[in-house]
Amino acid sequence: MSHTALPRLLILSLGGTITMTASPDGGIAPTLGAAELVAAVPGLEKVALIEARSPFRLGSSSLTPEHIAGIAEDIRAGFEAGFDGAVVIQGTDTIEETAFILDLLVRDARPVVVTGAMRGPQQPGADGPANLFAAATVAVSPAARGLGTLVVLNDEIHAARFVRKAHTALTSAFVSDTAGPLGLVAEGSVRLFSRVDPAELPASLAMSGSDVPKVALLKIAMGDDGRMIEAVPGLGFAGLVIEGAGAGHVPGVVAETVGAVAARIPVVLASRTLAGPVFEATYGYPGSEIDLIGRGLIPAGLLTGVKARLLLAFALRAGWDGAAIRAGLAAYG
Ligand code: ASP
Repeated sequence: MSHTALPRLLILSLGGTITMTASPDGGIAPTLGAAELVAAVPGLEKVALIEARSPFRLGSSSLTPEHIAGIAEDIRAGFEAGFDGAVVIQGTDTIEETAFILDLLVRDARPVVVTGAMRGPQQPGADGPANLFAAATVAVSPAARGLGTLVVLNDEIHAARFVRKAHTALTSAFVSDTAGPLGLVAEGSVRLFSRVDPAELPASLAMSGSDVPKVALLKIAMGDDGRMIEAVPGLGFAGLVIEGAGAGHVPGVVAETVGAVAARIPVVLASRTLAGPVFEATYGYPGSEIDLIGRGLIPAGLLTGVKARLLLAFALRAGWDGAAIRAGLAAYG
């Protein structure tokens, strides 16, 4: 294949273990940029014509929704300039959130793939180069078009809406609980076993230029008395996501408090189980999903709490009302 026939790939590095080398202060810290990561992957020059940029060098727990909204802008501008796909490199701790924000905001059939590494480049068996090679392979594959944002690690291809980091240490840390991975990369080729349809969302979500409203996320545990939930509006949060127990439940004694908060700010009900849909019409006791939805809570559908929180935050930035928020969550199933 001649060089001119290669697809054009934009690679943006934000930091993470994949970029981290030994720090004089102890431990590892982000130092490498996208160009150095690309140079360390044998054969990548045969996959795509690459433009490598390094907007950030951060641990991924320091990334913000505003950072990632800016990355979405960069990708959209890159697609307008003719890139065929994009790879975002970052820390694995918040990869599922970055992928979901990009899924919300980029809205383009061309693949956006987020990758990272569980082991640093100076560790034995570093997984960064293999992950970057697989991510680039997916990002320029016509088969990966129209799937929204994807996460590729350990040669597995995950949809942004399902993927979750489920282990602190293993290179196989990523799972898609509800649906399984969409496919894998084997022998340098993309093999897809299932697809997802892009969520139908109003274009207003992608509007740029303003801060992303703060949305609180609270997990319910046995014996919770609701005092954290009660405090949320007074702390200035624009919305709240509650990770209820099971199919979306809180202690009966907390139901009234939750309803009072939902009368002031949008409250979304997710499940702390992290898999399966929040129920809407099964349990009828105080604190059950029927009770809470009747008190104004909006069910998160299949989205986990961290992803429902991001959808709610960007929906509030776009000025959506409760019905639009409910429809946006429902668009993800
Ligand atoms: N703590 C790292 C980060 O998220 C973990 C990783 O990259 O795997 O930045």
